[in-house]
Amino acid sequence: THFGFRDVPTGDKQKLVGEVFSSVAGNYDLMNDLMSLGIHRVWKRYFVATAQVRTGDRVLDLAGGTGDIAALLRERVGDSGELVLGDINASMLRVGRDRMTDRGQVRGFGYVQCNAETLPFPDNSFDLVTIAFGLRNVTDKDAALREMLRVLKVGGQARVLEFSEVKADWFRPIYDFHSFKVLPRLGKLFARDADSYQYLAESIRKHPPQDALKAMMEAAGFARCRYRNLNGGIVAIHDGYKA
Ligand code: SAM
Repeated sequence: THFGFRDVPTGDKQKLVGEVFSSVAGNYDLMNDLMSLGIHRVWKRYFVATAQVRTGDRVLDLAGGTGDIAALLRERVGDSGELVLGDINASMLRVGRDRMTDRGQVRGFGYVQCNAETLPFPDNSFDLVTIAFGLRNVTDKDAALREMLRVLKVGGQARVLEFSEVKADWFRPIYDFHSFKVLPRLGKLFARDADSYQYLAESIRKHPPQDALKAMMEAAGFARCRYRNLNGGIVAIHDGYKA
């Protein structure tokens, strides 16, 4: 695929995101490890380990992709729990389902191809809704947040794991160099796809920083919104509850 990201009008964002993830699906897990030096695994573990969830709960993992979060959530909800992996992209979903099935994880798993902006689930149907490294790809983030709230049961938690704004001044030039020079090169070398990784770096910069995202969650109707920075704000975890 080839596209000039900067010139793409916002209306085409959905199509662009589709191309990016169809293009990277096969190499997605390898690339995550390479680009983050494996640290994404630690972030995801922490994200799931500290989520508000119990054995037997029903959980929706949005933009679930290749299933990293769902696999970790399985340990928390147990065999009596139910996990729904939702993703807009069929290629990502397929890789995720194959991986789960290869690990013997079949029962209590559902896979739904859906857009986070318009969820095909009834109101009040999940105890926990998660979205990890997904919200920044969604065109209408406010709509996605409202939908997350709608499908959540009263008292349930919504959790967002996403790249955020690095707080330490000294670290920013190093981080920028990594994002805009190293990352596209890694993409070219290992996935033969520099453009997709250029898009990923740019989408991180455009994503609302910590306080802005918290305000968006409040505007969507979430109660008790808060966030926590990991690794100085490279990523942040945002929480909100349905009151
Ligand atoms: N959550 C997984 C993880 O942490 O490894 C996958 C993250 S991946 C960077 C982003 C995922 O968001 C992709 O699988 C993509 O297909 C999905 N996505 C993008 N836009 C979406 C939308 N509007 N609704 C649902 N999923 C979307």
